This record gives sequence, structure tokens and C-alpha cells, in this order.
Amino acid sequence: MTTLKLYNTKTRSKEDFAPIDARDVRMYVCGPTVYDRAHLGNARPVLVFDVLYRVLRHVYGADHVTYVRNFTDVDDRINETAQKRKAAGEPGTLEELIRARSDETIVWYHADMDALGALRPSIKGEVSPKAEPRATEYIDQMIAMISDLIDKGHAYAAEGHVLFAVDSWKEGYGKLSGRSVDDMIAGARVEVAPYKRNPMDFVLWKPSTDDLPGWSSPWGRGRPGWHIECSAMAHDLLGETFDIHGGGIDLQFPHHENEIAQSTCAGHGFAKVWMHNEMLQVEGKKMAKSLGNFFTVRDLLDQGVPGEVIRFVMLSTHYRKPMDWTEKKRDEAEKTLRKWYRLVGLADTASRYSPLENALGDDLNTPEAITLLHHLANSGDVNTLLFGLDILGLWPREVPAWATVPGFTDAETGLLSDLVQRRNAARRRKDFAEADRIRDGLIRAGVEIRDTANGTDFSKLANFDVNILDRVWGGE
Ligand code: AMP
Ligand code: ZN
Repeated sequence: MTTLKLYNTKTRSKEDFAPIDARDVRMYVCGPTVYDRAHLGNARPVLVFDVLYRVLRHVYGADHVTYVRNFTDVDDRINETAQKRKAAGEPGTLEELIRARSDETIVWYHADMDALGALRPSIKGEVSPKAEPRATEYIDQMIAMISDLIDKGHAYAAEGHVLFAVDSWKEGYGKLSGRSVDDMIAGARVEVAPYKRNPMDFVLWKPSTDDLPGWSSPWGRGRPGWHIECSAMAHDLLGETFDIHGGGIDLQFPHHENEIAQSTCAGHGFAKVWMHNEMLQVEGKKMAKSLGNFFTVRDLLDQGVPGEVIRFVMLSTHYRKPMDWTEKKRDEAEKTLRKWYRLVGLADTASRYSPLENALGDDLNTPEAITLLHHLANSGDVNTLLFGLDILGLWPREVPAWATVPGFTDAETGLLSDLVQRRNAARRRKDFAEADRIRDGLIRAGVEIRDTANGTDFSKLANFDVNILDRVWGGE
């Protein structure tokens, strides 16, 4: 991979990527609010930035990449669940019940994202809870940052709240999303709180009533606003400046705009490259509970859709385009992966393939990478196919159980798939002598083959002998 090019939302152009420090390339991605199971849309940024993470590790080395993804565990929906549990008589304080709800959601999140083949975030290759910071563990850093913003004239306290004053940074506020403060005010239909100096001023700190979680602060007992969490955690873990900041496009405004305002006004350089994935839809429609097409990653896994299949479908659309989840794509992905995994059973080593590296290096062109994999599979180039599956995170180190043929080992499955492909190719070019040789060989080796609408199936007979199979494969 010669140069990595990434599309920077901030400059609206594809730029050559040059890390601040090639020995520690640093990326921050806004993580989930841990109030419930992740829905399928939540998996999209995880998979997009997982591919970027793998590409960065490939280029700079696994120990030279730091990837931080937070957990937002201050949230009214978490509080509601905890309050309900408390009202239902569950033991523990409200704080303990809140913590328990976040904990259980994090366990689900890890299980679901692991099933999709997403690597855990790490600090220079070391996986630890530090790489997945929880907002509630960084309250001191948030309070310090808010105090600093007040001191610098960028924030003010009013009625137990602290607000960021957008007028104090009119020249910069709105640059990421391409709007001016005046336009925003004209377009805003929000009810304006009386304590706000400018309707666009946003909350850094808000007061908590007794039935809400709260921390003591110079402005009274309260809790942080959402945006300050990411600014404080990114600064604490990645330093004054870092390379890449990612998240879904829905976060560009206001969340990321506000992160930039807070961090820049606090004197931090913050992120150089801003990357945003487009949204996921289902069968052409926005995913929404009201439309009845809302489902979680776990729902799909429970229905028996393999994680690799979900990942494959996600990566078949470029991250900057809206992606449509359809049952048709799911079925096709499963068929393709079954075929590829059987072929990969034959590979003995992963061979680098520069066209594939270039596709991924070109702003993560995963659909192009998948097209290349189709060519590699069709030409039987199994070692490069293995390399491609691996860098896309689609290779779980062995053929997954769902893709194996019962009774055969991975290597046997690979041999068989290859032979069946060779037989079918011989039939297409009317080389019936070769087609018959392979069929007869398979029968001698104890393999039964059946041609179906979906390809050729095979099963093991009692007299199966892998040595005979090997000889057929070798041309005897
Ligand atoms: P949340 O837990 O709502 O804060 O969202 C976690 C991540 O999921 C954020 O990066 C969002 O941008 C992203 N996200 C939420 N809904 C979708 C969707 N339908 N498609 C793609 N990404 C989404
Ligand atoms: Zn964030």
C-alpha cells in the first residue's frame, strides 16, 4: 500500500494520510450509548472503523496504532431502566443499578461486535479497558475542561447549568458541517431555554435532581453534557492532537461540531482527519421501531445469520454511501462466503496483493476489494484470497462451522471444492474426459456428489479415503 488516502469531512476532500507520529497513529471513534442492545445501524461504524483500524495496523504495525472507542454511560435511557428496576424492588442504590445496566449492555455489545469479527480497541496494540473508556470514569477531566473553558471566556454558568458560548468562537463554529451560527439560529425550531445567551449555546454541565445520577462540581451536583465526554476522553487518552476522529454522519452536527468547539477553545489541536459513515437502511427504508423494521445485531445472530455474512454485506457498500440491508444481499453473501471459505481451506499461506491494498488504501474502497476477491476466487488464486479475507476481517482463522461440510475437515473441504469446480469448468468447455475422470475419482475416494440449483453438494461415504482424493487432485 503506497499511500493511504482518506476523505476528510472537514476539508471535504480526499487527502493523503500522514500520521502525526507513525510510531503511534491515533484514532478516536464515538462509541455506543450503553442503554440497550446495539441495532444493526450501530454496527456500521464499528465495522467501517474496524477495517480502517486493520488497514492502519497493516501499514504501521499493530503496536503502532492506538484506537479508542468510548462508552457513553451517562444517559436518561439508562437512568430510566435503573429507576424502573428500583421501583420493582431490585436491591441496590440507583447508582449501582445504573452501573449494572451499563455493565450488562457492555457485555452484550462486546459479544455482538466480536461475532462480527470486530477487533477490540487498543492502546498501541494492547487491548485494555483504557481503550474503551466509560464517560463516568472521566468526570474529573470533564469538570477541569469546563472550568478552563469558563476561564477562557468560552463558557458561562447559569442556573446550575454551564453552557458553551458559540458567539465566543463565531469564526470556527459550524465549519465541520458547513453552516454559520446565524444560519443555524434561523433554521432552529428548538425551544430556547431562558438562561441561554444564544439559542445555539449547548450544555457542558447540567443539574441533577435526587433521582438522577450526579457528581459534585463547582456548579452544584450535576452531570456532564454528552459532547464534553468525548472531548475530555480523547484529550486524556490521545493527547493534544491526534490523527483520526470517526463516527456516523448523524453525529457530524451537533455532536462533532460541539466537540471541535470545546477542544479547540480549550487550546487543544484535536483531530486532523474527520471521517463519517453514512447511515444504514433496511429494504430501502429508514430503520425505525415505528416502521416495524428495527432489529438488533443479536436478533440476526439468533436467527442463524452468521457474523461473517453480516460483515460481508456491510462492507459491500462504500462507507460514504447509504447502505441498504436486504435479505437478498444476505443470501448472496452467504453463498459467496461458503464458496470462498471452501477455497481458502486449500491455501497454505496468505499472499499480499497490491491491487487489493490499493483499493483499501483509496479511502477504504471495500466494494472494490470485494470485486477483486471475486476475481481471485474465480481464478483459484487461494493464497491471495486468504490475504484479502484476512485484511477485511472476514477470516476467523479457520473455516467457520456454518461453512464447513459436515464430516469433512477444512482441508478436505478445500480439496473437494476445488475438484468440483474443476469438474464443472471441464464440463463447460466440453472436456468430458476430464470431467469424468474427476467424477470417477471422487466416487473411488468415497465422495457422493449431487448437482443442485445452488451448485454442487457432496457428502462423505463410509469408504472415504483422503489419499485417493489427493491423487485425483494431483491429476492421477
Ligand atoms: P448511539 O449509540 O446512538 O450513540 O450510536 C452509536 C453509533 O452508531 C454512532 O456512531 C452513530 O452514528 C451510529 N449509528 C446510529 N444509527 C445508525 C444507522 N442507522 N446507520 C449507521 N450508523 C448509525
Ligand atoms: Zn463523541
